[in-house]
Amino acid sequence: MKGKITMDKPVVEMDGDEMTRIIWKWVKEKLLYPYIDLKTEYYDLHVLNRDRTNDQVTYQAAEAVKKWGVGVKCATITPNRERIKEYNLKKEWPSPNGTIRKILDGTVFRAPILVKSINPAIRFWKKPIVVARHAFGDIYDGVGIRFDEPGKAEIIYRSKSGKEKKVEFSEFSGPGVLQGMYNIDRSIEGFARASFRYALENNLDLWFATKDTISKIYDARFKEIFNEIYEREYREKFSDKKLNYNYYLIDDAVARVVRSEGGFVWSCKNYDGDVFSDFVSTAYVGTLALMTSELMSPEGYYLSEAAHGTVQKHYYRYIKGEKVSTNPTAIIYAWTRGLKKRGELDNNNDLVNFSIFLEKAVLKTIEDDKIMTQDMTRLTEPPVENHVDTEKFIDAIKNNLDLILKA
Ligand code: NAP
Ligand code: MG
Repeated sequence: MKGKITMDKPVVEMDGDEMTRIIWKWVKEKLLYPYIDLKTEYYDLHVLNRDRTNDQVTYQAAEAVKKWGVGVKCATITPNRERIKEYNLKKEWPSPNGTIRKILDGTVFRAPILVKSINPAIRFWKKPIVVARHAFGDIYDGVGIRFDEPGKAEIIYRSKSGKEKKVEFSEFSGPGVLQGMYNIDRSIEGFARASFRYALENNLDLWFATKDTISKIYDARFKEIFNEIYEREYREKFSDKKLNYNYYLIDDAVARVVRSEGGFVWSCKNYDGDVFSDFVSTAYVGTLALMTSELMSPEGYYLSEAAHGTVQKHYYRYIKGEKVSTNPTAIIYAWTRGLKKRGELDNNNDLVNFSIFLEKAVLKTIEDDKIMTQDMTRLTEPPVENHVDTEKFIDAIKNNLDLILKA
């Protein structure tokens, strides 16, 4: 490699909190700056800066992703009561991820980072299983009522133009709870397109599952929209690449996922995705630090991040002066995936190749050199006795990256 790689357009950089903020800086200093003339548009999502700007910085960062197309996000604190005390905040600002997802209307794709020495808990799994979660609506924007005596309830929809539709529940025989939720066609269509596109780009089959036999209007609409979009826009492209689109009932899908050898995208409604992304990641690689998490919007906006949080416990040990062994892999992959996307959009092959080499360097460090952070030593077979601290692990990756770039 001669000189540093240059970039035409920036990626939107969203800095974050605690241990991940520290690692974010190390990754840039050791693994990016020496090789790339890194162009970013920087937004500081540190909880104190969100507080100072009344959370405007989060909105600005999401809008910037719309402008530049590609963003990379560090983990951030979602304030709760303890955090308000800890940081003396004005209020419980909402989750930045929630805010950003609402603005970009995305689908979140989570895939395990496969490491040779880490075996899935489910022995049939050989190829990746990517869970695509529709990150809009359903119970996440639903309403509920708790009632304390027998009674009746109905749902009334009133259109803007004055039409009315009404359904009644069967009569309630005693105290209980009820819930209402919704989704909108446009968001489901975006979810479907993002799923088909991701599967196509990554040469994977697509599975989609709901409970349309029971939920004959709600889930049936999801099934219908997926089918229509597949027939109209993707059937030919899938068959050209010999890929399949399969629709299942959700319980059947779960059984098939466990029996499968992997190699597909599993698109899940919002709640299913919440549950099954944690299930698949834990069963596959045993830690959120070995997962990629990528958000794709119907308009093609892209945001990558680490799936884990800010690793608060490690941070408090770190600021006391202790060497900590936090796994930076998911943070490194957030960068490689974002830079790869930037490179693909700008026809910047050097940037694309660099991302591929850096991912190789990470795997080489773990698989061949058996140098790893503490969380991984517990998962590898055969077990590895010694672990290194985060900085040593990043240094070892840098050594391998230099070897790969020289070759
Ligand atoms: P967390 O930061 O994911 O950490 C929970 C535990 O998981 C850690 O204590 C550690 O276990 C292990 N862990 C997570 N990431 C690791 C890594 N990279 N390397 C090694 N071990 C890792 O979750 P949390 O403690 O529940 O949440 C902390 C903060 O993160 C919260 O304020 C929350 O709001 C925020 N959060 C942000 C995001 C996001 O921005 N995407 C997501 C989730 C949570 P051991 O202590 O056993 O080593
Ligand atoms: Mg979850």
